Amino acid sequence: MILISACLLGKNVKYDGGNNLCRLLANHPARGKMVPVCPEVLGGLGVPREAAEIQGYYLDLYNEKAVVKTKSGQDVTRQFKAGAREGMLQALRHKVKAAILKDGSPSCGADYIYDGTFSGKKIEGQGAFASLLDEHGVPIYTENDVTEELLTKLLAD
Ligand code: SF4
Repeated sequence: MILISACLLGKNVKYDGGNNLCRLLANHPARGKMVPVCPEVLGGLGVPREAAEIQGYYLDLYNEKAVVKTKSGQDVTRQFKAGAREGMLQALRHKVKAAILKDGSPSCGADYIYDGTFSGKKIEGQGAFASLLDEHGVPIYTENDVTEELLTKLLAD
């Protein structure tokens, strides 16, 4: 089994109510071996919801030195961490051998996130969910890595 950001499979769970459909994933014959997870929804946030970004160094999120705030200033750190933990439990429950996550997200971002100023500036870093998976040794890929070859490799028994 592999874990996938639910929005990549066409689920309308993005903050704006849309999705980030990746046809190669959604139409794959081994779709049944993919576990869709949206940590922000698991954390109790609604759809649609206000855009949020990590403020502070992303690795400080779990030692209370960084926060996640919405554009209007609402602190949603608790919901982001709760969703990341619940997503992690699903990863463990399904014994996933890898995750394919939507890059740039404050939860799922794996190579980059936004800098917390809502100005569109990208920085190297991981979202709240991606960093937890990484800490637990789950190999992480993004939608930019998805190829038939990668999926064949990850979905082989
Ligand atoms: S939290 Fe992850 S799965 Fe949910 S909408 Fe954002 S990128 Fe997609």
